[in-house]
This record gives sequence, C-alpha cells and structure tokens, in this order.
Amino acid sequence: MKIICVGRNYADHAKELNNAVPGEPVLFMKGKNALLLPGKPLYYPEFTDDLHYECELVIRINKNGKYIQEKFAHKYFNEVSVGLDFTARDLQQKQKEKGLPWEIAKAFDSSAVVGSFVSIEEKNVQDLHFELKLNDDVVQKGHTADMIFTIPKIIEYASRFFTLNIGDLIFTGTPAGVGPVNIHDRLRGSLEGETLFDINIK
Ligand code: MG
Repeated sequence: MKIICVGRNYADHAKELNNAVPGEPVLFMKGKNALLLPGKPLYYPEFTDDLHYECELVIRINKNGKYIQEKFAHKYFNEVSVGLDFTARDLQQKQKEKGLPWEIAKAFDSSAVVGSFVSIEEKNVQDLHFELKLNDDVVQKGHTADMIFTIPKIIEYASRFFTLNIGDLIFTGTPAGVGPVNIHDRLRGSLEGETLFDINIK
C-alpha cells in the first residue's frame, strides 16, 4: 500500500506559499508507516518547530491499474474521505531552497491522517465540499471543483509512472488556509458536513 500525494492542486494554496501554478500535477509519495493509526493522537515530532496541517480530499483505489485513461479513471475508486497531509514546513522550506526532495518534511511516520471512507456513488467527485476545524475554528474550506487537476487527470498522470494497486490512497491537494498546529490542538475534518476524522496533537 502506498500513498500518492498531489502538491499545489488549488491555485489559492499555491499562491499562499508563493509557488507557481504547475503545468502538470506535482506528485510525491508517503509510505505505509506514514499512516496515523485510527484513534491514535499525533505526537508532535522532535525534528520540526513548524508542523502544518493540510486538509485534503482522499480517494482509495479499488482496482489495480497502469496507464489508466482519464475517461476510465472513475472505475478505479468508489470511496472518498478527507485526510491531513502533515508537513514539517520548516524542513520543507530548507529542502526547497536547496532543490532537494521533500520526503523528510512530508513522508515521516504518522504524517498522513485519513478519515472514515464514504461511498462516492451517486455523487460528483468534483463537486464535494470539505472543511477542517482547528479546535473550534474552521481554518480550511475546500471545494473539489476548484482543483487545478481533476481526480481523473491525477489518476491518468500518476498511473503513467506508478501502477495503482487496490488500497492505495491518493491525497488530492489542499486548498488555502494551511497553518501550524500545537500540542493539545484538536483537528476535525468533514466532508459534506459529516465529520470523518477527529484527532489530537500530543
Ligand atoms: Mg498536501
């Protein structure tokens, strides 16, 4: 099982981090140990002083595939959730300045939170609203219609390079509003008004 993540998939978020809007999807990966176990808190890692949340729509692959065409991509998933792509922003910034890969800032243990999955049947995956609450404040609001690269386009592009396997997760990018978390914070993610994850930082 692997986690494929898309960076800079919402123009308003690319802008808040002073990144150019990309011409092709920006992909990176997290491994199996990046997944925070259900019901567990996230322990603030000792290697960063600037841990950020990024709330994202997550899809789960339910069929193996390679070179998937955009028009058939919908056949490769039928469940979605919301999740968090935790990022050590200070480390990421240093890596970016040196032109080095992001893994240490993005793919560390427990850096990926994923909520309960819900069926996508009868729903348009490019018309879903999701929201992140930090303690009692709504800090991110996303609408999948605002993605730069749609989910079928992401699947087509990613599957050119990587075989997609049953159980793989795709994190589809975060909208604007990313920010730091602190010990004792609570993060709750919802999709279409339904809370799908609820985690604490310790
Ligand atoms: Mg992200």
